[in-house]
Amino acid sequence: MLGVGVSHQTTLAQRVDLMGRGVHGGLPARVSLLPADVNTGIQFSRPGRDGAPDRVISASPAAVRNTDFATVIGDGHGAMCSTVEHLMAALVGLGIDNAIIEVDGNEVPIFDGSALPFVDAIKQAGIEEQDAPRRYLKVLKPVRVKEGRSFGELLPYDAGFRIEVEIEFDHQLIGQQRYAATLSPETFERDVAPARTFGFMSDVAKLWSAGYALGASLENTICLADDRILNPTGLRFPDEFVRHKALDAVGDLALAGLPILGRYHSVCGGHKLNAQVVSALMVDRSAWTVVEPQRRRVRGHAELGVRVAVPAYRADLS
Ligand SMILES: [Zn+2]
Repeated sequence: MLGVGVSHQTTLAQRVDLMGRGVHGGLPARVSLLPADVNTGIQFSRPGRDGAPDRVISASPAAVRNTDFATVIGDGHGAMCSTVEHLMAALVGLGIDNAIIEVDGNEVPIFDGSALPFVDAIKQAGIEEQDAPRRYLKVLKPVRVKEGRSFGELLPYDAGFRIEVEIEFDHQLIGQQRYAATLSPETFERDVAPARTFGFMSDVAKLWSAGYALGASLENTICLADDRILNPTGLRFPDEFVRHKALDAVGDLALAGLPILGRYHSVCGGHKLNAQVVSALMVDRSAWTVVEPQRRRVRGHAELGVRVAVPAYRADLS
């Protein structure tokens, strides 16, 4: 998706471990980011219990199990991992193609509610170029999903990955907000990754009774009362809310399994809509192809060309 000028796949230079707490279950959780071979993609590994082998969940459209308040992926045989979206956003945002993510716990830790701790961890580990061309999922024609007031579409866009997110909340501190950018690793890190999760005090009782947000606090969530923000440190951006929605969309679209060459536009969306748009793209086999960037010289400048690759990529939607 990002760093379209980079023509090689990348992974982490070394392992990095992070300890935190899940925002929904509220339990301690460890997440480790490890290097992986070319064409691995992003694979989540859940430790097997009582001597059983580890369970592997490949980040793919088919792995999405639930999108109610976070994106939950699973292997279809009981192994699940919740709240993968901010970590997925950091990985694709910094242009990581291949990594093994070991998660000891049911949830990826929430940390400060943004993708910044994952960005910092990836940079601390270092990014290593691999000896294989990067592959992209190129959008060939528009794919749209509409549900109630929510609307999402993926459109062709050859200059990389562009995101255009609009939200409208009936709250005086949010109202209508729009964020649009063609993302590079630099713009992602600076403008999107720091934006935190947000929630409304009026929803807390309902969420808790449903077993969600048990680990939410002012340290990991922007909390909105009727007329003010409860976090003493205030906002990181005046429009932090829509930027967080953009962050979620980057992470959810990363579950396509390859970085996307295209433009994503969403209105009043969320995890469910993002997953639906990816699914709608995948099932329409004429709407996408897999390409590899190819540098070619045009008037003395290196430009990005593309050629169709033999797609070793599978987009099963079983
Ligand atoms: Zn989020």
